[in-house]
Amino acid sequence: MTDYIASLNEPQREGVLTTDGPCMLIAGAGSGKTRVLTFRIAHLIQDKGVDPFNIMALTFTNKAAKEMRERIEKVVGHDARNLWMGTFHSVFAKILRSEAQHLGYPNNFTIYDTDDSKSLLRSIIKEMGLDDNVYKPNTVYNRISAAKNRLIGWQDYLNNAELMGDDAANMRPDIGKIYKAYALRCFRSGAMDFDDILFNTDKLFKEHLDVLNKYQHRIHYILVDEFQDTNLCQYFIVRKLASVRQNVCVVGDDAQSIYAFRGADITNILNFERDYPDLKIIKLEQNYRSTQNIVNAANSVIKRNRAQLPKNVWTANEEGNLIEVIKATSDNEEGRLIASSIFEEKMQHQLKFSDFVVLYRTNSQSRAIEESLRRMNIKYKVIGGLSFYQRKEIKDLLAYLRFALNQQDEASFRRIINLPKRGIGDSTVDKIVVAANDHGTSIWEIIQNPAPFVGGRVAGPIEDFVALIKRFNIDVQQKDAYDAAFEIAKGSGLLRELYEDKTVEGLSRYENVQELLNAIKEFTDNPEREDKSLGSFLQEVSLVSSQDEDKDKDPDKVTLMTIHMAKGLEFKYVYIAGMEEDLFPSQMMLNSRADLEEERRLFYVAVTRAQKRLFLTYASTRYRFGRLKNCEPSRFLDDIDSRFIKMSTKYAGIESAPPQSQYAKNLVNGIRKTISSAPAPKAKQPAATAYKTPDDFKPSDTNGLKEGMKVEHPKFGFGTVVQLDTSGADRKAKINFNDVGEKTLLLSFAKLRII
Ligand code: ATP
Ligand code: MG
Repeated sequence: MTDYIASLNEPQREGVLTTDGPCMLIAGAGSGKTRVLTFRIAHLIQDKGVDPFNIMALTFTNKAAKEMRERIEKVVGHDARNLWMGTFHSVFAKILRSEAQHLGYPNNFTIYDTDDSKSLLRSIIKEMGLDDNVYKPNTVYNRISAAKNRLIGWQDYLNNAELMGDDAANMRPDIGKIYKAYALRCFRSGAMDFDDILFNTDKLFKEHLDVLNKYQHRIHYILVDEFQDTNLCQYFIVRKLASVRQNVCVVGDDAQSIYAFRGADITNILNFERDYPDLKIIKLEQNYRSTQNIVNAANSVIKRNRAQLPKNVWTANEEGNLIEVIKATSDNEEGRLIASSIFEEKMQHQLKFSDFVVLYRTNSQSRAIEESLRRMNIKYKVIGGLSFYQRKEIKDLLAYLRFALNQQDEASFRRIINLPKRGIGDSTVDKIVVAANDHGTSIWEIIQNPAPFVGGRVAGPIEDFVALIKRFNIDVQQKDAYDAAFEIAKGSGLLRELYEDKTVEGLSRYENVQELLNAIKEFTDNPEREDKSLGSFLQEVSLVSSQDEDKDKDPDKVTLMTIHMAKGLEFKYVYIAGMEEDLFPSQMMLNSRADLEEERRLFYVAVTRAQKRLFLTYASTRYRFGRLKNCEPSRFLDDIDSRFIKMSTKYAGIESAPPQSQYAKNLVNGIRKTISSAPAPKAKQPAATAYKTPDDFKPSDTNGLKEGMKVEHPKFGFGTVVQLDTSGADRKAKINFNDVGEKTLLLSFAKLRII
C-alpha cells in the first residue's frame, strides 16, 4: 500500500479502496471528498494497473480538473495525462467531435456561447414579428436551456402545452415555436450551444447504441465530483455510460447544492440510490479544512434548512477565533474596512495576499471592494465578470476563425460579414438569412451566388468575402492553429484596423488580439498536444469559463469572486461581503421556502470555504440600481449560533445608532451574551486608522476649493474640480470623478475632502 493511502482516515480509505461497483460519498464540506476522488484515481492506476485511458473523471470546472490531474501526476507520473478528465462539457464535446456525423453535424461544429445564442434568439424573435418585451431573449434562452437540461426536445415542447408551464398563461404561447426555429437554425449552422453538448451526447447514446457500446467498453471507471449540482441530462449520460460495468463513484454534499436555478437536480442523489440497489454509501464527517468555530457556525446555519440529509460534521482542528461581523455605514466603507483588515491581518500574521478571498452574492458588488484594494495598493484578481473571451475584439477574431472552419455558422457570419467595413449593411444580411431560411439552405450557399437575393451594389463585396473565406479555409486545412490564425488575423484586415486605432482603448484591443494569438502559439507549441489544428483550439477555447481563466503570472493576489464560483475551493481568510437583507438572501430568492433554502445553502458554501478566519461584513446603506438604499443586516447573520460569532471591535466602522431590525437586534443581543460570559473585553481599541470613515469627509470644508483641485468623495471616489459656481446662494462644483464621470454637487451637502 502506498504512502498516500496512509494519510487517509478510515471511511476515506474505504472510499479509495472499494473501487468496483457503484459507490456514493455524501459528505459534509471540507471532509475530503475531492481528496478521496483524487486518490481513488491514483490508486486505480498505481495499484490496480488500470489504464488511465479507461478512467473518466468529471469535475465542476476545468481548473479543478487541472489541479486534480496535477495531484495524480505526482503519484503516478505522466500517465495521468491520458485520463478523460474535465467538466461534463469539455469531456463530452470532445466525444461529440469524433461522433458528430451520427447526428448530422459536422465534426468541426461551432460551440455557441450564451451571447451567440441570445443574439440568434433576438433575430429569430424579430423575424417572427414577436414583441421582444414579452419574449425577452434572456427569458426565452433560460426556458430553452431548462427544457434541454430536462431532456425535452423542441418537438415535445411544442406538442405539450403543459411543459410550457406558466408561459402559456403568461402570454408567451409562441415559446415552443421559437425553440423549434432556434434548434433548426443552430443545426443548420453546424452549431451547438452549451446545453446542446449534453443534450446531444444523451441523444447520441440513446439513438446510436453502437456508439454507446464503444464508450461503455472504453470507460471502465467513471467518477463525478460535486454530484449534487448535476442536472438530469448529466445524470442520464453517466448512468448510460456506467450501465455495463457499474463502476461509478459519485461524491457530493446535498447541503451545497446551489445550482438549481440552472437546472441542477438534487433528486439525482435519491435516484442514484434507487437506480443502484447494490450501492455502497460512504459518509465522511470529519472536516479537515476549518477551525471548530467555523465548522460549528456552518452546522448551525444549515440546521435551519428542513430539506437536508442528516450529517454530523466535526473537526479535530483548533478551536480558532470567533467569526467576526463588521458593520459599515456604506458599501464604500465596507470596501475600506475589508481592505484595511486584509492589510493588517497580512502584516500581523505574515500571510500572503493569496491567503485571502472576498466573496459576494453578485458581481456588481466587486466595484467598491476593488476600489478600496487599489487605494491601499493591495494586489487582487477578480474571477468571473466579463471574461477575456467575451471581449468584442476577441469575439470578432474568433468569429473569423470559426467561420473559416465552418461556413454554416450563422452567428459568426453575422459578426464578420461587414467587419472591417465593406459596405454590406444589416438589410443585406437579413435578406441573405431570409433567403437561406426560405430555401432551407445555408447562408454559405446563398452568398456563393448572391445576385438573385441582394442589390447589385453589394454583390462585388460579397464575392470578395467568399474568396477570402475560401482562402482562409485552405489555411485552416494546411496549417497548424497558430499559422492559420495569424494568416486570418492579418488577411481579414482586423489586425491592421486595430493597429491603426491609436487611442488608449484601441491599443488595448490590439494587445488583446496579440494575447489571443499568443495563447494559440502556446497551444501549438505544447509538445504533449497531438491535435494542433485550429478546430481543436477553438473547441477548447469555447469551453473556457471565466472560472478557469487565470492568466495572471503573479499568483500572490487577493481573490474576489461570487460565492457560486467558490465551490470546492478553500482559503485561510474569507470575507463575505454584503450580508444584508435583499442582497443576501437575494431579493429574487424570497418567494418560496425552497428558494430561501437554496440561498441558505449558498451561505453554507461561503462559510465553509474558510480555513482559519471568517469575517462577515454588511453596510447600512448601499447604492442599488442607481439609488441609495438603507439596508438591514441579513437574516443569515442570525442563523449562526451566537456562541461562535462576535461583532468586530477592531474593524468597526464609525459608531452608530443601535440597529433597528429584529435580526440585527437578536444578533447584537446574542453577541452581548457572549461578551458578558467571556473574559472582560480589553479596552476598546481605536478604529484602524489606515482607512477613512465618512466622518473624515466634512461638508463645507471646501472654502478653499478651486478649479483643477483633486478631491475625494465618500461615494464617488476621486475626482477633479472642473468648474465652480459660487454665484447663487448654493455654491456648486462640477467634478469629474475618475470612476463615475461628471457630477454637479452642492457644496453645502457634498462631503468632499480636498487632497
Ligand atoms: P468541499 O465540500 O468544499 O468540496 P471536500 O469534501 O471536497 O470539500 P477536500 O477539498 O477534499 O474536501 O478537503 C478539504 C481539505 O482537507 C483539503 O485541504 C484536504 O487536503 C484536507 N484533507 C482531507 N482529508 C484529509 C486527511 N485525511 N488528512 C489531512 N488533510 C485532509
Ligand atoms: Mg470538493
